[in-house]
Amino acid sequence: MKKSPIRIVTLVALAAFAFAFSFILPAAQQKPAHKVFISVDMEGISGIVHGDQTTPGTAEYAAGRKWMAQDVNAAVEGALEAGATEVVVNDSHGSMRNIDPDDIHPRAILISGSPKPLSMMQGIDASFAVCLLIGYHAKAGTEDAILDHTISGSVVRAIRVNGAELPELGLNAAIAGYYGVPVVLVSGDTAVCRQAGEVLGKNVVTVAVKEAYGRLAAKLVPMGEARRLIKAGVKDALGKLGRIKPFKIASPYNFELGYHVSAQADMAAMLTEVKRVDARTVAFTADDFILGFRKLRALIALAPAR
Ligand SMILES: [Zn+2]
Repeated sequence: MKKSPIRIVTLVALAAFAFAFSFILPAAQQKPAHKVFISVDMEGISGIVHGDQTTPGTAEYAAGRKWMAQDVNAAVEGALEAGATEVVVNDSHGSMRNIDPDDIHPRAILISGSPKPLSMMQGIDASFAVCLLIGYHAKAGTEDAILDHTISGSVVRAIRVNGAELPELGLNAAIAGYYGVPVVLVSGDTAVCRQAGEVLGKNVVTVAVKEAYGRLAAKLVPMGEARRLIKAGVKDALGKLGRIKPFKIASPYNFELGYHVSAQADMAAMLTEVKRVDARTVAFTADDFILGFRKLRALIALAPAR
C-alpha cells in the first residue's frame, strides 16, 4: 500500500519532535541502561546466627541456603524496579555453590563455584553502574557480630591495607572501586552496617536484618520485613546514583596479613617478596590492587590449618 504524503509528513514531524524532546528531558528523568553487580555472602543473611546454617552437610544448611536466595532475590527485585537492565549475582560464601540455580530470580545471572580469581567479586568490571553487598558480616575481632571473621576464620586475624584494618566489605569495595564501580548498599547485622559506614562513608545505604548478642545469637527482624527492607533499601540506593563515589585506596599498596599462629606466617615468609613483620604477621607491596589482592588470597588459601 502506498503511503500518502500527509502521513509521511506527520511521521517525519513526530520523529523530529521525539528527537528534540530527548534533549529537553532532564537526565534524572531518563532511565539510563545500567547493570547491577551483587556479591552475596551468608553470615549476614536474614535468620542466620550459627555456622551450622552456613555449612553444607548439616541439618540446618538447607534452610540457610533458602534464606540466602530469598534475601538476594529481594535485592534483585529492588534493582529491577529501580530500572536495572541486567543483574549479576556472585555466590560469595564458602564453596560458593550455596544458591540453588533453580531458586535465583529468573532475571538474574548467577555466578556459582570456587575458586575464582576475584573471589567474592568475580564478574565485576567497568560496565557495571553499582555494586551491592548482601548478607555481609563484620571483620574478625568485632564484638556482638554474627560469625565475625575476615575471609578465613581459621587463618586470618587481621588484614591491613596501607595501615588501615579492613573488613571483607572494604577489600571488596576497593576491587569494585578499581573498576570505577561504587558500593551503594550493604546488608547484614547492625555491626557490619556500622563498619560499612566507617569504611565507605555515611551515604552508603545499610540494611540491618538482625542485632547480635555476642557471636552466635541475635534478635532477628521478621523475615518478610527484612526482605521488604532489603528491596526498599536497594531502590533507595539506586535512586542516589552519583552521590556515592567508588571506594579507592591510593597506590602503592602495602598489604599486611596477620595470621592466627606463627606456623602460618612461617610458610608465607618462605616467599622472597614477603616480609616478616612479627611472629604472626607478614607484609608485601603491590602497585596494582588486583594483583595484590590475588597474592593475599593465595597466602590465605595456602596457609596450613592451625
Ligand atoms: Zn561467608
